[in-house]
Amino acid sequence: MLFIVSAFVLGLVIGSFLNVVILRLPPLMEYTWKKDYAEFTEAKFEEPAPPGIGLDRSHCPKCKNKLRWYHNIPLISYISLRGKCSFCGQPISIRYPFIELLTGVLSALMAYLYGVELQFVAAVILVCFLITITWIDIDTFLIPDQISLSLLWFGLFFSLFEFSIPPSVAIIGALVGYLSLWSVFHLFKLITGKEGMGYGDFKLLAAGGAWLGYEQLIIVLMLSSVSGLIIAVIEKLMGKTENKIPFGPYLSIGILVAYLAGDIIMDHFFTIA
Ligand SMILES: [Zn+2]
Repeated sequence: MLFIVSAFVLGLVIGSFLNVVILRLPPLMEYTWKKDYAEFTEAKFEEPAPPGIGLDRSHCPKCKNKLRWYHNIPLISYISLRGKCSFCGQPISIRYPFIELLTGVLSALMAYLYGVELQFVAAVILVCFLITITWIDIDTFLIPDQISLSLLWFGLFFSLFEFSIPPSVAIIGALVGYLSLWSVFHLFKLITGKEGMGYGDFKLLAAGGAWLGYEQLIIVLMLSSVSGLIIAVIEKLMGKTENKIPFGPYLSIGILVAYLAGDIIMDHFFTIA
């Protein structure tokens, strides 16, 4: 019980860090691209660097005041400030405490499921990567390679241990994951002339394959298509007409559910065959 509670608190703190990554990584990437481009074309480049992920203290995005240490306590700060910046009184996005709470709850769940084992560490790493990917994709329609490819490497690494699928299954999983979406993408493009996904999605499913093995990828694709469809219908009904939707969040949900309950789902749906 103590372990589960500690995992929850640890998850809150990690979630608070994930908020920083989600907020700061995309501008950092854009800055690097621009800088590389300027160097390549020998153009002048004088843009100031955006804040780094570890070093700079957070500030309010509206009034730019630097936050005090007691404004940075996950969840508690948000509640005690009643969701408002203590300097300018502007509302703070509910998203920050939500991501903290989500990371906390999922970490506690992994502690409950796996106990004081290496698999707990693996599962929390998976959760953190999927949460980060989900929100960066929602914000920017991009899934950074640094994140999706690191997740793939972690999947291959953990396949060396007893609790995981064997390395051969993980490697084939990564290949099948990448190639399956790659083929759908090119088929779709051939037929409709449109691009329905991005290369980031292929890499994310490759990472999913490295964690789950190739057999469970079918579950990931099923879950992500169904959940994507449901959300799209809801948004249509609510009158939103965004025709561009990020696929990364749905793939992430699919990967997480398959990781937790893939065997049960497999048994239920594929026993007849
Ligand atoms: Zn403020």
